[in-house]
Amino acid sequence: MDSLKHGDKKIILSGMSLEELEDLMTRMGESKFRARQLHNWIYSKSVSSVDEMTNLSKKFREALSEIAVITDVKISQRLISSDGTVKYLVEYPDGNCVETVLMRFDNRANLTACISSQVGCAVGCKFCATGKRGFIRNLTVKEIIEQILTIQRDTGLKITNVVYMGQGEPLLNFENVVSSIDFLNKEFEIGIRRITVSTSGIVPKIYELAKLNRQLTLALSLHAPEHELRKKLMPIESIYHLDELIKSLRYLTEQTGRRVTIEYTVIDHVNDSIEHAKEVNKLLKGLNCNINLIPYNPVENDEFRKPDINRINKFKYILEQSGKKVTVRLERGADIMAACGQLSGQKRT
Ligand code: SAH
Ligand code: SF4
Repeated sequence: MDSLKHGDKKIILSGMSLEELEDLMTRMGESKFRARQLHNWIYSKSVSSVDEMTNLSKKFREALSEIAVITDVKISQRLISSDGTVKYLVEYPDGNCVETVLMRFDNRANLTACISSQVGCAVGCKFCATGKRGFIRNLTVKEIIEQILTIQRDTGLKITNVVYMGQGEPLLNFENVVSSIDFLNKEFEIGIRRITVSTSGIVPKIYELAKLNRQLTLALSLHAPEHELRKKLMPIESIYHLDELIKSLRYLTEQTGRRVTIEYTVIDHVNDSIEHAKEVNKLLKGLNCNINLIPYNPVENDEFRKPDINRINKFKYILEQSGKKVTVRLERGADIMAACGQLSGQKRT
């Protein structure tokens, strides 16, 4: 049986597809039906140990425990907000950590996981805690999926919606992110329409994504309506100009028939004037999109401030005159620093 392992290392069951589990069961001399049971224990019941799989014989569980474990990731920190948001610092075997957040919205059955796609980020946006620390490495497909399983195992709840809005630039880890989305769809049965990918605007990858024609939601971090200001806030603007970016979004909406989300972090007296709002309307004219305003979340050692609610509402009012749907993102978990990059900033990443 030991020959099924890779050297001394045990097999990690989390992240294995039904086909892979079937293959494992065949090699263990078990029926394929066992694989279905295992799959159910891993992805629906989200057990933490083989021993909890109570409809399997003790003998089989012992044999499986010899060669396999459910996971090799740890919860390094868990912070629970008064509003029900739970923030995890998930630690991989190499010691790297990423943030994963569980958000619940009142009056809705949805449970949303906000997950990371990379350790650190190379894009270096000026207002972002992750961006300040630079890029460490991409996450593998399994590591991306483990974040959702970590929440499910910890809470006993099933995630219904996933947003790639944690650390990292998802489109710079394109293949793993797309494979992880397909995995979530197939193995977790999370509808593609319940998955959102947020990007700082990697234009060639937006075209690539459009051509794949997945029915997910793309969210674009706009944050400024003109080239010079955007370049100051987001260095990626010097590589992919705003005009090219908007063109790629138009292509994506036409190709997929999906509306995009425009995210706009509102920073006091930086990008939140009436003029800015009018420019945003001009820029987005004719684009099939909703707009989500994110009040700036203060990051240590940075020069930006959050606007007061009157200023945000005035900005929102002008945007609404374009006829588009505009929402202000609820501040979730402010008391546990659930903003991008703020928890792992205190720990090694
Ligand atoms: N890397 C991706 C997704 C992660 S961040 C991206 O940039 O789109 C999710 C959103 O939070 C992005 O729109 C990002 O620009 C924004 N954000 C980052 N730091 C922030 C802060 N301190 N306050 C408010 N929004 C922030
Ligand atoms: Fe990277 Fe997104 Fe942070 Fe920009 S906002 S540095 S793209 S994680």
